[in-house]
Parts: sequence; structure tokens; C-alpha cells
Amino acid sequence: MSRYLNAQYQALEAYVPGEQPRDQRYIKLNTNESPYPPAPSVCAAITQEDVSLLRLYSDPTGKNLKEKLAGLYGVKPENVFLSNGSDEVLNFAFMAFGGKGAVFPDISYGFYSVFGDLYGIDYTQIPLKEDFSLDYQDYCGQGKMVVIANPNAPTGLSIPVDAVEQIVASNPDNVVVIDEAYVDFGGETALPLIEKYDNLLVTRTFSKSRCMAGGRLGYAFGSAALIADLEKIKYSTNPYNLDRLTLKLGEATVDGEDYYQKMCTRIQETRDWTKEQLESMGFQVLPSQTNFLFARTDRMDGQELYLALKARGILVRHFSNPRIDQFNRITIGTPEQMETFLTVIKEILGL
Ligand code: PMP
Repeated sequence: MSRYLNAQYQALEAYVPGEQPRDQRYIKLNTNESPYPPAPSVCAAITQEDVSLLRLYSDPTGKNLKEKLAGLYGVKPENVFLSNGSDEVLNFAFMAFGGKGAVFPDISYGFYSVFGDLYGIDYTQIPLKEDFSLDYQDYCGQGKMVVIANPNAPTGLSIPVDAVEQIVASNPDNVVVIDEAYVDFGGETALPLIEKYDNLLVTRTFSKSRCMAGGRLGYAFGSAALIADLEKIKYSTNPYNLDRLTLKLGEATVDGEDYYQKMCTRIQETRDWTKEQLESMGFQVLPSQTNFLFARTDRMDGQELYLALKARGILVRHFSNPRIDQFNRITIGTPEQMETFLTVIKEILGL
């Protein structure tokens, strides 16, 4: 740290992303990416001309992509916000709406507390229940911004949309952010509620079900006024937050909807099969509505298992938070990758 860093950032603990090794040595099951490539139409979308057009700035309004997303999800373009990964819209939401404080679960996406710290927000982390389920009543009438990943990460559990509605309805003077990064793998979306509640922001990403984590494309749905607030923050920080190529790839992604539905189904099938296999080896595996599993075994310490897998070329995600340090989060890969993973687990545990 230099002696120039502003005092309020000196104690800030930055978010630590999952490992991103630059070689192909690992079967990478650690950051919930898709094992499948984007749709063929997306792979073919960028032309020589698109590259030469990089000399010009991108469209700061993202008009074409907003219209396409609005058409696909049955909302108006003014209900759509586009961001550089959903991390960016979450960042903007904390900046824009966290002034009265924030609440979110103790076990959830690690970035929420980092944003809270970054903006000096007075936040409370509400403990999930013993079984990691979320009691929606804990979030009702809080009088602060509420942030919930639904389905949650790293647990994989979700809450029904009527529970979300109770939370939104009981916090009319605060924004409720529902982070739906994983909703396409079996969760229930809160999107239809944006027509009824002007305090609901639903965030989404192209990183998981749209096989495009490296493209950094996120979006959000909300009332026109909420979206305008986010646009104000965007135009005050980085108006060209999405580059030309990503915008174009995003548009092609919307056209590939059938392909993505198939990939999601495939991942759900592989997930359910992997869960059964792990359970037959004595693992406790939380029910998952996502593209990952959260699992532990009495046979080996969580971190030891993570390290043993890594030594054998398989990366999963381990968190040191004592409440979950016996678990590992395992991204669902291809059936072949999961077979290798299970074989290696058997080897490590001597089964
Ligand atoms: N929300 C949750 C719950 C996540 O797990 C992630 C992925 N790390 C994100 C948001 C952000 O993903 P991205 O910025 O790639 O859209």
C-alpha cells in the first residue's frame, strides 16, 4: 500500500476471485463457469468489420441489446440495465441504494460485504438457518436495502417467489436486490414482480447459463425509475461500460435461446447424477438449483480435500469461513469431467 491511498480504503479487504490458472492443467470446477461454449451463432458473430469498428466508441445506451433482452423477457427496454458482468450492477446498486444500510445472509456471495465496506455502508449479515436455508421473515420490514442471491451461492438453495414478494412488499421504502445469477438452473424468477413493485431490482448474468463468463456481461430488471438511477451512476463512472464486441455477442446470445435451454438441462442432469454419486459415497450434498454442488464428507477435512483434489489436477472452491469450511463448492462440468472428478475423489478417500 502506498502512503497516498485515501484513509477510508486503507483497511478495505478486496474481494478474492476464485483461482484462474493460465494453463490448462486443471479440470476447472471452481468458479461456476459453463463447461460448454457459447451458441454457434455467438461464436460466428464477430467479423473483421466489427474488429475494425473498434476505433469507434460503443453505444453507451446499449439500445439493441436492451431491446432484444426486453423482447425475450417480456419487459420494456427502460426496465433493462446492462453492466460489465453482474458484479458491476451489484456494485452500482450498493452505491446507489445502500445509504440507509443493508442486510444480506451471512453465507452468500462474498462481494456483498466488500461493496458494503467500499461504500462505508452499515450492513448486517443475517445468519442462515442451521441447514443453510433462508427464513424470508428475517428480511421483512428491515428498513434497509436487502440483497439476496436466489438461488444462493455457495449453498445452491433457493426460496420461492412468494417469499421474495413478502420481502419486497414489506420493505416499500428500500430497494430489494434479488441476484439471479443462477436462476436458469432451476430457481424461480422474481422478474414478474417488477411491474408491481418499484423497489425490486433483479440482477442476472451471461456468465453462467449463457456460457460467457469471459465476456463480462450482466444485466438487471427493475422499474424505469430504478434503472434510471443506475444509469445515472453508470454515466458518472464509465458510460462505455460495455465494449462493441460484447454488445454484439450479447445480441447473438439472445438469438441462441434454444441452445442455452438445452445446455441448462444438460447441466441440471449432470448435477443431479453427480449428487447421487457423491451421496452414495457418504457425502452430505445440499439440494442445488444451480450449476454447482455444495458438499462435505466426514471422511476428510474440507480444506484437505480441496488440496488433495488440486494436487491431482482438479480445482474446486473452498471457503475458510468456519461455518462452511468443511464444505467444497463443485461446479458442474461435462459428464466426462464429473466422472473423472468422482474417480479421483474415490482414490483420495480410499473407496
Ligand atoms: N452473483 C453471484 C451469486 C455470483 O456467484 C456471481 C459469480 N461470481 C456473480 C453474481 C457475478 O458474476 P458476473 O460478474 O460474472 O456476472
